[in-house]
Amino acid sequence: MRASPIQPTVDFNADGEQHGFLKLPHSHDGSAWGAVMIPVTVIRRGEGPTVLLTGGNHGDEYEGPIALSRLASTLKASEVNGRVIIVPFMNYPAFRAGSRTSPIDRGNLNRSFPGKPDGTVTEKIADYFQRYLLPLADYVLDLHAGGRTLDFVPFAAIHLLPDAQQQGRCEAAMRAFGAPYSMRMLELDSVGLFDTAVEEAGKVFVSTELGGGGTATVESVAVALRGVLGFLAHAGVLAAREHGGGETSGDTARTTTLLDMPDGTCFTTSEHDGLLELCKDLGDTVKSGEVIARIYDASRTGVAPVEYRARRSGLLAARHFPGLVQIGDTVAVVADVVERGIPVATNAATSVPVTAPVSF
Ligand code: ZN
Repeated sequence: MRASPIQPTVDFNADGEQHGFLKLPHSHDGSAWGAVMIPVTVIRRGEGPTVLLTGGNHGDEYEGPIALSRLASTLKASEVNGRVIIVPFMNYPAFRAGSRTSPIDRGNLNRSFPGKPDGTVTEKIADYFQRYLLPLADYVLDLHAGGRTLDFVPFAAIHLLPDAQQQGRCEAAMRAFGAPYSMRMLELDSVGLFDTAVEEAGKVFVSTELGGGGTATVESVAVALRGVLGFLAHAGVLAAREHGGGETSGDTARTTTLLDMPDGTCFTTSEHDGLLELCKDLGDTVKSGEVIARIYDASRTGVAPVEYRARRSGLLAARHFPGLVQIGDTVAVVADVVERGIPVATNAATSVPVTAPVSF
């Protein structure tokens, strides 16, 4: 297969902290010999495992970009054993447009793997991750949230894998991330996912859904930051950090609730267009057969709303966002509660987040 047109401006094998770009030539009306410049940070000290941290796979999800921008600007090589590769805005054109897909080719990066070196811009980005960055990595953390059309309880997630040992390693890393919820996630269609590419390459992989609505909150960003540090510590890449200089996360007695999505009855899909009334909030307990949503006819008064009932009991883990819904939208996801109160592994590395940025 032909080589990728993407050229990194960093040396992945050099020690120290490097901030550069993955440079993808892109000729267009506004720049004849232009390039898409995807920011990348490499922090390396000696031999050790490699962790690849990604955000902005979808361009309207913000916890990953915020937490990874923070980490990239503060993590020092002296704090690392091995290598950390940080790409906070994977689908950079989509991120700059604030949209899920790329404005250049409408490509959904997380449906574009393994990609093509001679394909669309989005396919070229996928191909570079598939053939150049994945082989460098032992651990991969891909930070997602709900974007503009979904909202989630904050969870880290893994998939059921054919290799039980690999799945065990992924589960351990998910618990080390230590989100309030930990999900065994069901994909309705796993073709083209970055997740699938990483898992098939035999790596330890954790994904997340940390909120949504096309923005981030204080809490969801805190979950992301703690999680990234927990993941790095679990991988053995984060050396002990010096105390001071940043706000502490403090709560060393954190726990996570294990959730499961065993089959398609978790999903409620809208069969109507209209005005959405969710009858449960995220995290609420749901009983099978209970009304979880009503959809009102948005074109007239005097018509009773359509009721949507839960097809299983559990916890409301995801919901449509914002208030209007269209046929085919996911209205709600009800997940099984497997176990509550599982202690999160904490250590010196995760109890002190990255150094606070300079304040003005
Ligand atoms: Zn996403």
